[in-house]
Amino acid sequence: MGNKQPLSQNEPDLLTGKLAEEFKTITLMTTLYCKAHHQKENCEDCQNLLSHAQQKLDRCVYGQEKPACKLCPIHCYKPHYRELTKVIMQYAGPKMLFKHPILTINHVIKGLKKFPEKLPVGLSNYHQRKKIK
Ligand SMILES: [Zn+2]
Repeated sequence: MGNKQPLSQNEPDLLTGKLAEEFKTITLMTTLYCKAHHQKENCEDCQNLLSHAQQKLDRCVYGQEKPACKLCPIHCYKPHYRELTKVIMQYAGPKMLFKHPILTINHVIKGLKKFPEKLPVGLSNYHQRKKIK
């Protein structure tokens, strides 16, 4: 599987605001999927996906204003993780509505947002973090 990067090595406070919420949503969905399909809490592949997702959310040029990834013109995930995410969303999406209704509604609202025509500059969580330091 290449780079081993257990979840515990992720920086828990890396993401803020809506990005942190989005990562929480993805983590919950991945855990649901992994339990049902890989019989684990988060197997190595799923943990690697979460590390990948966290990194990508940190670097996302749309920052706190990011719409849902589904319609994004960039699609920054690696193909393997993009496919896995699709499968996870299909499985866990309907279950999330009952388990975590507020997170689900916020995600639906993101899905209605439009992508700006011009790529924003300096909005990513990464840029914001560097500015603070
Ligand atoms: Zn798994």
